Amino acid sequence: MAAIGDMFYTWAADADVLKKGECGGAITALQQYALKSGMVDAVLAVKKGADLYDAVPTVITDPAEIAETAGSLHCGTLLLSKLVKDYLDNNKAAKLGVTVKGCDTMGLIELAKRNAVDMDRLLLLGVNCGGSVSPVLARKMIADKFEVDPDLVHKEEIDKGQFIIEYEGGHKGIKIDDLEDEGYGRRSNCRRCLYKVPRQADLACGNWGVIGEKAGKATFVEVCSEKGAQLLDAAAKAGAVATEPANPKGIEIRGKVEGAMLNLGNKWRKKDFGALASDLWGTIARETGRCIKCYSCIENCPVCFPVADELKGNSRMVTSGEVPPNPMFHLRRFAHISDSCINCGQCEELCPMDIPLALFSHAIRTEGDTTFEPKLGTAPYKN
Ligand code: FAD
Ligand code: SF4
Ligand code: SF4
Ligand code: SF4
Repeated sequence: MAAIGDMFYTWAADADVLKKGECGGAITALQQYALKSGMVDAVLAVKKGADLYDAVPTVITDPAEIAETAGSLHCGTLLLSKLVKDYLDNNKAAKLGVTVKGCDTMGLIELAKRNAVDMDRLLLLGVNCGGSVSPVLARKMIADKFEVDPDLVHKEEIDKGQFIIEYEGGHKGIKIDDLEDEGYGRRSNCRRCLYKVPRQADLACGNWGVIGEKAGKATFVEVCSEKGAQLLDAAAKAGAVATEPANPKGIEIRGKVEGAMLNLGNKWRKKDFGALASDLWGTIARETGRCIKCYSCIENCPVCFPVADELKGNSRMVTSGEVPPNPMFHLRRFAHISDSCINCGQCEELCPMDIPLALFSHAIRTEGDTTFEPKLGTAPYKN
């Protein structure tokens, strides 16, 4: 019987899922099993759209279609928590299985704190996350730095500190550090992110720590909740996945890699927040002076709920229709999200005026976390 904290190498029993899966296809096989067995009524996962820069979230109710979502897309930046909320609102009593990155999990937890989602209706299969790359920047980076036509690339991954592409004619890897020094690489919020292993999900799955003959052929699964343990046990018993205890040396390596990633995240925080510290409010006023008040940062923020409509309206401090808006428009938004900003980067990524919004709200939230309780992503919600 699996228990919270147990760690396994896990792989799909089905040869097609094993082949299509990113590592061992465990997530795809577990989602298939959860749907077939009635543990969930639908699965929300991500599949490739027009090309590998186009990550498309999709709700699936037919287990036969789940294999289409196998594999990881690192250049599609999307946050799934608001989609989950829409699904739960529109399908009363239905249960949903979701593949989640750390920021997706945190977004759901913040929505749960606002009673906007019911975590009991969710089965969360977490993926470790070293970071994602903006699709637009990924195409530019591949053309400029790798000197490869982005349309010829059929696979990308981040492994052993490199961004690696496979394309017609070969493969190339460049150190992420070198790319990031030149303004390419992972999104800036991902560099500061510390949700590398999503232990707030039911299972945390990844490739770190899979060594020996199973390297590249199995998924490293850490059990994070009773629900996760039940799913893994039942799927193994039904023959949907095979498991073996994780290699102790692999566990040690995974711990070291996670530690190194957390150090790197803290290094980026120091750098980014340090640059802001001398003139935080002046920088915010200057940068937000470009705002055209399109409301994208409000619409796409997972925690800007449910007072988004109030922020858009007329008030004594902000006149509706005024562009650029009075800085109070932004200060009200920061004040309203500052207890919950999860640094998902959506506001910044989708701002047409390239205002570094996530940097500002993340800096404010991180400062608050040093003083106030509960810390982000912890109580009052816990698995
Ligand atoms: P599969 O059976 O192939 O299933 C993959 C699942 O991921 C599918 O459900 C698919 O829909 C979903 N998915 C694909 N792209 C996304 C996306 N952008 N957002 C949300 N869901 C998505 N593991 C590590 O150990 N270290 C890392 O640094 C690391 N970085 C990652 C970065 C990103 C952006 C992603 C998406 C994953 C990352 N992973 C990392 C996890 C790893 O790539 C595998 O997803 C994990 O090991 C599960 O493997 P699998 O064969 O069981 O998955
Ligand atoms: Fe991954 Fe964190 Fe970036 Fe989300 S914010 S995509 S969890 S690195
Ligand atoms: Fe202003 Fe950018 Fe927000 Fe649009 S997304 S309202 S331009 S800050
Ligand atoms: Fe994400 Fe920006 Fe909202 Fe923070 S303010 S949770 S970074 S969208």
